[in-house]
Amino acid sequence: MQSKNKAAPTKAEREHIVRIKEMPCGVCEAPGPSEAHELRQGEWHTSIPLCADCHRGSFNGIHGQQRIWKVKRLDELAVLNNTIAALV
Ligand SMILES: [Zn+2]
Ligand SMILES: [Zn+2]
Repeated sequence: MQSKNKAAPTKAEREHIVRIKEMPCGVCEAPGPSEAHELRQGEWHTSIPLCADCHRGSFNGIHGQQRIWKVKRLDELAVLNNTIAALV
């Protein structure tokens, strides 16, 4: 969701997000395309790939109760670490 005070991504940031969205979900490994979740709003290089459920699901999602995150013992930084490792 684009909020008013959020800077538009640069070209490099847009290209990064395209790559992130092509990746499988960083939590349950559901095949892409995924959604990009930023660890910090507007800091696009902190984006991680998440399926709709691990992202926005009320039960499993990072924006919800984060149940699958707890089952998998993952947090946002762990998934970011794995995401960067997979990109290199
Ligand atoms: Zn998932
Ligand atoms: Zn998100």
